[in-house]
Amino acid sequence: MSPVKAVLFDRDGTLVHDVPYNADPGLVRPVDGARAALDALRARGIRTGVVTNQSGIARGLLTEADARRVNRHVEELLGPFDVWAMCPHGPDDGCHCRKPRPGMILWAAGRICTNPADCVVIGDIGADVEAAHRAGAHAVLVPTPQTRPEETSAAPHAAPDLTTAVHLLLNAPPWDEPAASPPPTGPAEDASPGSTGPDEAGTFAAGAGAEGHPVGPARDVPATPADPASGAECPLRGRSV
Ligand SMILES: [Mg+2]
Ligand SMILES: [Zn+2]
Repeated sequence: MSPVKAVLFDRDGTLVHDVPYNADPGLVRPVDGARAALDALRARGIRTGVVTNQSGIARGLLTEADARRVNRHVEELLGPFDVWAMCPHGPDDGCHCRKPRPGMILWAAGRICTNPADCVVIGDIGADVEAAHRAGAHAVLVPTPQTRPEETSAAPHAAPDLTTAVHLLLNAPPWDEPAASPPPTGPAEDASPGSTGPDEAGTFAAGAGAEGHPVGPARDVPATPADPASGAECPLRGRSV
């Protein structure tokens, strides 16, 4: 595959220690090595993003504004991300964005003008891995003590911590090994995004910085992809959360 162009991180349990339904920025605690791992990616010109399920909003346990405040503090501690995607829905809402569905990955990739096939999702549970694969992206699982053993054993690629995961994808992406992952038959640029149909790509999560609720249709995705390495500005680049 072509080099990794973007890394999309799960938030809770991956970038920061999981505080269920956290509405308090003061409780945000990054995991060890998170800032350094992110800065290593930024130094290489690799885009970074966050894709986070926040069903506490649908459950009435926190507001979207609460979640945005927490997101903002994550940025204060870990540096700026190129894109945020947040699903405010519950498991029974049938949305396209809640992981393991692929909507947020597809949306975030579009926002940073990057083919999902050139993105890696790093997360701590099987839903992160599944969402990545359904979007046509790669995934690295970084389990926590809360991760179910069967999710760890099912993940094609796993790392013991965030630092190792980022080093892995910077230096020796495991999916580049011919034996483990045969190359696609077509040109990489034409690779289809997994099993996802265009209908699924039409509905997306609200960005953390967006006002109001989800649901931007595909028109939100820039029509003309820019070369991420060029530093060209994408719509959400640098906007505050
Ligand atoms: Mg998580
Ligand atoms: Zn959703």
